[in-house]
Amino acid sequence: MDLGLKGHVIVVTGGASGIGEAVTRACLDEDAKVVVVSRVSENVEHFIEEMQREEKPCDFIESHLEDPAQCRRAVEYVQQKYGRLDGLVNNAGANDGVGLASGDPDRFLESLRQNLVHYYAMAHYALPMLKEAKGSIVNISSKVALTGQGGTSAYAAAKGAQLALTREWAAELLPFGVRVNSVLPAEVLTPLYKRWLDTRDDPAAALKSITNKIPLGHRMTEGSEIAAMTVFLLSSKQSGHTTAQHLIVDGGYTHLDRALT
Ligand code: NAP
Repeated sequence: MDLGLKGHVIVVTGGASGIGEAVTRACLDEDAKVVVVSRVSENVEHFIEEMQREEKPCDFIESHLEDPAQCRRAVEYVQQKYGRLDGLVNNAGANDGVGLASGDPDRFLESLRQNLVHYYAMAHYALPMLKEAKGSIVNISSKVALTGQGGTSAYAAAKGAQLALTREWAAELLPFGVRVNSVLPAEVLTPLYKRWLDTRDDPAAALKSITNKIPLGHRMTEGSEIAAMTVFLLSSKQSGHTTAQHLIVDGGYTHLDRALT
């Protein structure tokens, strides 16, 4: 299937690790130009070097997305260097466990800055270029927005708000032909997820207990499976009449009867 993304400029926040990395790879495979906006870590450096070795270089701008000024600078960099933006994938975030009892209002607000405010800031600053290109926004949310989890009020609030903003922006941007959709993963074995598993007494047993509950195939969702949905949604050629959607890529985890597991 030709997605028509060749030469398109796509920004992926947190695009050098986990799900974001898979999205970046999928976009590069389509010959799109990817600008990763992320803070730096060993993972990130390793990924950027690997892409250079594979002769699929992606651009990178270091940003602490919780600071709106750094979001603005990242978008200005894209404007100056490429002069266009066709797709924005808002992806960076982490389930940080700021719970109703375990957190406090300051930590709640800080978590919203880490998980939500930059989704708005990136879309806000990118808007003129996205309108010009009749581009597409994909917000990576989470099944936590639909199911809750317990002990993670701020993350749940951020992920739920991302779904609401998907509908709100899809409505606001109808006149400009800019489509807005969200993808909801449930269980994907990313570096973030591995760090969480490693906090369990027996990580292998914890992983097995989770995969046992995933109806389709009793396995984790691959990052590439989230990425495949995301590049489809970025493609105006193939998903040109798809907007305001919440697409759940989770092997039936969120919706199927527990009796099936
Ligand atoms: P990941 O492996 O940690 O990758 C996220 C990347 O974004 C990391 O490089 C991270 O940097 C970076 N990042 C996070 N917050 C940032 C900030 N404020 N400023 C700059 N960079 C930032 O995480 P992932 O598991 O792929 O998660 C990606 C998205 O999927 C998140 O929105 C998450 O909520 C969602 N999600 C994941 C799962 C899952 O099962 N993995 C399930 C549901 C939803 P550091 O490494 O320095 O933190």
